[in-house]
Amino acid sequence: LLSIKNLSVNYGEHAVIKGLDLSIASGEIVALFGPSGSGKSTILKAVTGLLKQTTGDVVLSGKVLNSGTVNLPTEQRNIGLIFQDYALFPHLTVFENITFGIQNVEKKARHKKGDELLALIKMAEYKNSYPHQLSGGQQQRVAIARALATQPDLLLFDEAFSNLDPQFRFELIEEIRDILKSTKTAALFVTHNQNEAFIFCDKIAVLHQGEIAQIDTPSDLFDYPVNEFVTEFIGAGV
Ligand code: ATP
Ligand code: MG
Repeated sequence: LLSIKNLSVNYGEHAVIKGLDLSIASGEIVALFGPSGSGKSTILKAVTGLLKQTTGDVVLSGKVLNSGTVNLPTEQRNIGLIFQDYALFPHLTVFENITFGIQNVEKKARHKKGDELLALIKMAEYKNSYPHQLSGGQQQRVAIARALATQPDLLLFDEAFSNLDPQFRFELIEEIRDILKSTKTAALFVTHNQNEAFIFCDKIAVLHQGEIAQIDTPSDLFDYPVNEFVTEFIGAGV
């Protein structure tokens, strides 16, 4: 589904991402997990097309997003973004927020889609509420429904759940995982929380100074770390 080949990002003299390769299969959820400054957010920005100083090849669903000659604008990439601050439109209701991106379809179809998404996030009774009337977790669910409304090829999460209280956070993460699996939506999930990465993701890419030290299933990372950095980084988080 997503193929990243030889991705490099430089800030001036500073090489932040160094020839990175990463693939995501259809419906797969992959974590980018690594210490602060290892380049996690930079990779997401490169995939969304927010960085000019990017080289390498990025292909999503057969569409070239980045190559030597192409740098497709963000809005043509069909990627959904979920960040820490929910960034809902404060003056629009839950329903209006969710259906915001599907204005171009017929009203009846739009309302049907909106109601389906409300049911999916279990928030039907909040249809006409405004963002400020919701908890952080509820706002985050609305953000996910809004992103799914446009049927993105890929969803990107950057520390999306860090603001939520720990106990509730893991319930929400499991629920969202079920939603992504039921809609067969692939995701790239940035976190420096090991529990989040292990609960949410099919595979974890451990990032170290702009390179992937290892990419594997959670259990393989635990059982077969490839080097000392991975051993220590995984071990330290337990
Ligand atoms: P965190 O877990 O703290 O969010 P991260 O893994 O997301 O960290 P990035 O934000 O990708 O890290 O940053 C990677 C490196 O790139 C850091 O060394 C950072 O200082 C540098 N960097 C990021 N943005 C810029 C910028 N706009 N200009 C210069 N350097 C930058
Ligand atoms: Mg970051």
